[in-house]
Amino acid sequence: MEVGIVGLGLIGGSLGLDLRDRGIRVLGVSRQSSTCEKALERGIVDEASQDFALLRTAEVVFICTPIGLILPILEQVIPYLEKATVVTDVGSVKSPIVQQCTPLWRNFVGGHPMAGTAEQGIEAAQRDLFVGNSYVFTPIKETPLFALRKVEEVARSIGAVIEVCPPDIHDQAVAWISHLPVFISASLVDACMGEQEAIILQWAQRFASSGFRDTSRVGGGNPQLGVMMAQYNRGAILRSLQQYRQSLDQFITYIEQENWETLEQLLKATQQVRNRFLE
Ligand code: NAP
Repeated sequence: MEVGIVGLGLIGGSLGLDLRDRGIRVLGVSRQSSTCEKALERGIVDEASQDFALLRTAEVVFICTPIGLILPILEQVIPYLEKATVVTDVGSVKSPIVQQCTPLWRNFVGGHPMAGTAEQGIEAAQRDLFVGNSYVFTPIKETPLFALRKVEEVARSIGAVIEVCPPDIHDQAVAWISHLPVFISASLVDACMGEQEAIILQWAQRFASSGFRDTSRVGGGNPQLGVMMAQYNRGAILRSLQQYRQSLDQFITYIEQENWETLEQLLKATQQVRNRFLE
């Protein structure tokens, strides 16, 4: 099988490494010639080009560019594709992409690998990024079953756990567990850096250890990705952020009131539910 990848960054590059390890021939297209050269050097692709014509023989094409470029890239790729070619994307938001791409290419399947790091670009590409992690596909009623099965087969081959759900449910679910944490984590760093007493901030920096490292990690990822999440999943993210603000207000109220008993009950409940939720 030949698989095409457009956008050889963290996700596209990692996908290329794993697919080649499984004996699949990978055709990579990226914007910069330096990225194409690095992809060849690192063994991420069998062939690389800045020209979409390279994708003519691909059976499946993964669009792994920033979210805002997925639709324009699909439009540019279409003239080179065989009728039966299946196209999928890896964007972190699904409803707007699936709505816009499906009318253009019948064999389009929205996808989102639930894996990543705080790094970006081809240097960040790594082997086995997807192993054991969910890979969500978001077919709609127009999506041909064979196209879904094809992308499932590729994702399964790299060790991912396949999940299938409607695009709007995906977007609301990831708003809670992926997008909201980015903004909470970033606002934690922002609030901490807002400390006016320099001496307190200096000591806080010296004391900062695994707890602060863990809670601030997801806010320190690719800023463009965070902005695109907010732009493309605005409604669901605002809904989650507003509910989060209410929850935060609740904590403030209990502490102001010195209502330690209720505070403890709430912390006990969140401790228990977290364990069950992550099981
Ligand atoms: P990234 O590391 O910045 O890679 C994006 C790549 O897209 C760049 O290497 C760039 O290639 C390429 N590109 C940009 N414009 C292009 C164009 N016009 N034509 C061809 N290639 C172009 O980003 P990423 O983290 O891999 O994210 C890519 C997608 O994966 C996004 O849609 C994101 O929502 C999704 N995603 C990300 C994560 C995560 O944790 N990062 C997780 C799941 C899904 P050049 O180097 O050639 O400029």
